[in-house]
Amino acid sequence: MSRRKLVVGNWKMNGMRAHLDEVEAIGKLAAQHPAVEVGLCLPATLIMAGSQLKGAAFIGAQNCHMELSGAYTGSLSAEMLIEAGATWVITGHSERRETRGETNADVAAKSVAAHAAGMKVILCVGETLAVRDAGDADEVVTAQLLASLPEGASADWLAVAYEPIWAIGTGRIPTLEAIQSMHATLRAALASRIGQEQADAMRILYGGSMNGDNAAEIIALPDVDGGLVGGASLSAAKFEPVIAAA
Ligand code: PEP
Repeated sequence: MSRRKLVVGNWKMNGMRAHLDEVEAIGKLAAQHPAVEVGLCLPATLIMAGSQLKGAAFIGAQNCHMELSGAYTGSLSAEMLIEAGATWVITGHSERRETRGETNADVAAKSVAAHAAGMKVILCVGETLAVRDAGDADEVVTAQLLASLPEGASADWLAVAYEPIWAIGTGRIPTLEAIQSMHATLRAALASRIGQEQADAMRILYGGSMNGDNAAEIIALPDVDGGLVGGASLSAAKFEPVIAAA
C-alpha cells in the first residue's frame, strides 16, 4: 500500500506577522517536493495571512471547538478556521490534553466537528515517559487512539500522529525499532476498528524532536508516513531537510 508522505509543521504559540516570509518560503519548498504533502499548522492569528502566502503547502489550525458556535469565550469553531483559510486541524495534541484537560471524548468530538465542517484532521496520541518506562506504552497509546478515534474515521480525512510526550521538544527520540513497533501496533488497532483496507490507507505520522538529522531514517520505516514537526518547522532552512527526507 503506498501512502503519500505527509509532513506538517506545528508552530504552536510561535510566529508573528514578521515570520510570514517563512510561511511563503515553506510554501515554495512544498512546490519543489510535489510527492510530499506539506502543511503548516499556524497560530490562529496567522492563518488568514498565511493562507494567502502558502504556495503548495496547506495551512492548518492547532485546535478547534467541538461546537459550531455559541457561548464559548476564546474558542474558534472549525467553520471559522476554514473561513480564515485552514483546511486541516490538529486534535488531541498532548500539550492540550495535559494543560487543558482535553479528554479522549473531547478529541473525538472535535475531530467529528472538524470533519463535518470540511476539514481534515491530524489526531495526536502518545505516552508519558513513566508509561514507557513501565513497559505499558503499547497498551496505553492503543487505548488512547481507540478512545479518541472519531466515528466514521477514514483515511481520506484523518491522519494519526504518534508523539511520545517525552520526545516533544526534548531532542530525545525513541529507537527506530520502538517507533516502527508502535506504528505497526497502531495500524493493527486501526484495522480492528475501521478495517484493514482503511488502516492500510491511513497515514501515521511520527512526532517528537524530528529534524533534518533524523527525519530520513524515521520516515523510511515501513509504517511511518511522515512527520508532525514542531521546532524544526519554524523556518524554511530547518524544515527543508525534513521535507526533502520524506
Ligand atoms: C509537536 O509538538 O508536535 C512536536 C513534534 O514538537 P517538536 O518537533 O518540537 O518536538
